[in-house]
Amino acid sequence: MNASPDCIFCKIVAGQIPSRKVFEDEEILAFHDINPWAPVHFLLIPKAHIVSMAHVGPEHQALIGRMLSLAPKLALEQGAKPYPDGGFRIVTNTGKEGGQEVHHLHFHVMGGPRPWLRG
Ligand code: AMP
Ligand code: ZN
Repeated sequence: MNASPDCIFCKIVAGQIPSRKVFEDEEILAFHDINPWAPVHFLLIPKAHIVSMAHVGPEHQALIGRMLSLAPKLALEQGAKPYPDGGFRIVTNTGKEGGQEVHHLHFHVMGGPRPWLRG
């Protein structure tokens, strides 16, 4: 698996930094955000080190599709109420002006009753 030595999320994938896992398969990992903005807040990441959404190309179509299509099921499992009264939000910060702090692609999946800390 393509990993970057100083990347905190690659270290989580490798088990070198602990995480509270929500889901895992060969290509994808989901774990709780350490500093949640909402009652439900987990991150969906590819196990491979893809830097950001700006680095995604046609070769990633299947992976990104699988990641996004996991979100509804995982959000419900983690306590988000069903659509339309519940629902969830998916956020992908990209680059400096996009507010990205960890440079390993991740989708924030957030839900639960408002008010939330951010957004
Ligand atoms: P972003 O600004 O989109 O790059 O957000 C990075 C997110 O990663 C933030 O919401 C952090 O709280 C979260 N985060 C950073 N380190 C960890 C960690 N070790 N375990 C879980 N979440 C983390
Ligand atoms: Zn990484």
